[in-house]
Amino acid sequence: MTPPNTGFVGDLSAASDPVPRQILRLIATGDATNKAEIVRRTGLARSTVTDHLNRLESAGLVVETGSTMAVGRGRPPRVLALSDAAGVVLAADVGTTKTTVAVADINRRILDQRTIACPLADGPNAALHTIATAFENMLEDTVSAGTPIQAMAMGLPSPVDTAGGRPIHPPLMPGWDRYPVAETLAERFATHVILDNDVNLMAIGETSATSSAPIPLLLLHISDGIGCGIITSNGELLRGADGAAGDVGHLRSHGHDDTVCRCGNVGCIESVASVTAIEHKLRERLSDQEFPPDATLVALIKEGNPLALNEVRRAAMEIGEIAVTLVHTFNPASLILSGPLAEASDDLLSGVRAMVYRRALPLATRALHIGTSALGEQAGIRGAIRLATEHVFTAPLP
Ligand SMILES: [Zn+2]
Repeated sequence: MTPPNTGFVGDLSAASDPVPRQILRLIATGDATNKAEIVRRTGLARSTVTDHLNRLESAGLVVETGSTMAVGRGRPPRVLALSDAAGVVLAADVGTTKTTVAVADINRRILDQRTIACPLADGPNAALHTIATAFENMLEDTVSAGTPIQAMAMGLPSPVDTAGGRPIHPPLMPGWDRYPVAETLAERFATHVILDNDVNLMAIGETSATSSAPIPLLLLHISDGIGCGIITSNGELLRGADGAAGDVGHLRSHGHDDTVCRCGNVGCIESVASVTAIEHKLRERLSDQEFPPDATLVALIKEGNPLALNEVRRAAMEIGEIAVTLVHTFNPASLILSGPLAEASDDLLSGVRAMVYRRALPLATRALHIGTSALGEQAGIRGAIRLATEHVFTAPLP
């Protein structure tokens, strides 16, 4: 791949004061797509907005895409959009079983998306090389040489030190502890890289769905592990002081002190109610014929295996207890369940709903929406694209 030309006329770093970035952001998000709306949203003088738009257009960042219908006798306002030449963002949703990678323009349109095998157990060197090669192939196939890469965002199934761009003690990723993931990729692609926990990205993605649930929103993801993404009433992700907010998989579930979690503690909710934990329990009770080694819990649920359904309902009660605590702590407007179990059966949703309505106080539940993810498996990659494009318009200026 041709290395990105950082001196390209359309590089957004050329917009070296906050006002042009604010204007670009309004256009990109669709909040303001003509001059009058920009004047209204920014509170700037019309002549100032005109000057900025002229410069952004001659820099190739903003283009006119047509005119809206004329109102009265005046000239119809020009409709503005970000130019395709303004660059792309790269996004990755890295999972334990599969990884999704995408190239999107800064209007958040996906130009190319692929699912790749990326064995995390092979260690960070091999896995990051696989992901980087996939990005390079996509860029070669999708965009013209020299198109600037404005930012990259990646989600990992791990606690992440977002400031340092490193996973911290990842139980599902041996050999990755404190590996400089963001730095490695930033060097390879000469761009800014944002690293975050995968469930955080899913929560961000969920709020950008067209039918998005009301905020504040909690997204509780149940897969190999259990985690929670928290979106505040301002629409922002709550990361906490160190990026550990929402790492709820290691909250204690009562009555399971005989179950040792991979974190070293006992009775963690993840060790009794995650997909891996349920599968482990079922394998102890079912023969290889009833639950073949290459079969999944989702397959058993779809077959209607009574023992599997029973285990999912039990797990739903355990997860429901944690959900009650979360509802009382954050008072969300939406509690969204995601992951393979939530998609495969209604038993998880109905169990969690029943527990929350039974145990949480009326003020916290009277308008609470409890449902499943609108974006499903796409939530993580959508969140990564959103985070990367947000960076383009909100980054500290050089
Ligand atoms: Zn644990």
